[in-house]
Amino acid sequence: MSTLITHRSSRLHTALAAATEDRIVYDLSSIADRYRRLRHELPEAAIRFALKSCPVDEVIGCLVRLGAGIDAAGPQELRQALRAGAPAGRTHYGNTIKSDRDIAAAHRLGIRDFATDSLEDTAAIAAHAPGARVFCRLATSGEGALWGLSRKFGCPPAQAVQVLRTAGRLGLVPAGVSVHVGSQQMTADAWLAAFDSLAETLTALGRAGITLDHVNLGGGLPALGYLGPQGLPLDPPLDKIFAVIREGMLRLRRIHGGHLRFLMEPGRHLVADSGAVRAHVVRLARRPEPDGEPRYWLYLSCGRFNGLYEMDTLRYPLVFPTHPNAEYVPALLAGPTCDSDDAHAGGRVPVPVPRDLASGDPVWVMSSGAYATSYLTRGFNGFAPLPCHLTGGESDD
Ligand SMILES: *Cc1c(COP(=O)(O)O)cnc(C)c1O
Repeated sequence: MSTLITHRSSRLHTALAAATEDRIVYDLSSIADRYRRLRHELPEAAIRFALKSCPVDEVIGCLVRLGAGIDAAGPQELRQALRAGAPAGRTHYGNTIKSDRDIAAAHRLGIRDFATDSLEDTAAIAAHAPGARVFCRLATSGEGALWGLSRKFGCPPAQAVQVLRTAGRLGLVPAGVSVHVGSQQMTADAWLAAFDSLAETLTALGRAGITLDHVNLGGGLPALGYLGPQGLPLDPPLDKIFAVIREGMLRLRRIHGGHLRFLMEPGRHLVADSGAVRAHVVRLARRPEPDGEPRYWLYLSCGRFNGLYEMDTLRYPLVFPTHPNAEYVPALLAGPTCDSDDAHAGGRVPVPVPRDLASGDPVWVMSSGAYATSYLTRGFNGFAPLPCHLTGGESDD
């Protein structure tokens, strides 16, 4: 199954092969490559890595040394970013949802850029982080994304103008607008729609006499290695997405007229394909379903509660390193816990697995580097959080 190693490094492969126990493995050099490639494609956009997608100090440090800043969602993430070496000036509070106390804590840490999407939150920023720079988040439909991030966040253009005008009146700096097209966004059209909304907002702000200095294009850039329901690569149109983003930035600059700068907050795109979970087979069992049909179930040692929270929606490529030329059978895939949600696609979509898998055989869950370390529970059902191992750092180059 060596064809599954595309998008992924041989270093990751070596580290997985060396593991005799379950773990999450990251290849820092491949994360650095992905970052450089993104900078090459979109040189106009400064990167603020969305920390929640991989809150691992070494990963943060690696990206910060390359010039990235950090998008953090609260005081704990802000502290971690600063501890890992991110300068406060390149670190922002990107969560629209925050308490008074959290705003004050961020302000004390030296954070000056805050996202918002409501008048209430803007007033709280003015009270607890006086003089801060605010970014108003625009709503998007989330269509085309695997995770929409729609209704909970963002406001329409007219409301954004009101929020930013109010920010100015309250002594804050109306600094920017932001969007998020939804995580693992699979379409370039969603980006077009986001630029339409940004253009409408910049035009309305211009009429209101408000000039911003930044547009934050958010996250949503896809990982490349996931599989679709039929087992073929999902194959997101990344080049087309980059082209639409470049064109959209030009369009916004023309509307703005002045010196408009761009930020992006990628998470998944930077880390997903550079990380993998080394799990093992708990049991391959054949059980009759209520309809009487016997079905194979492959129970893995890792599931939704130890790193693979997104396994309900995502299909990760699986590698069975001890069974290179096996005969395959369709099996439903699930984690080890007593929760029936701990399964791939609700236990409805079978995936091919070697027929003669034995308990203890290693399984590599590829492209699972995004959100895996942040979704580790403290030990649901006693299954301990996975340890994290790194390769490709400066010391082992
Ligand atoms: C989660 C998040 C991101 C990262 O999203 P990805 O889809 O992983 O790129 C960026 N910005 C904000 C505000 C987020 O909440």
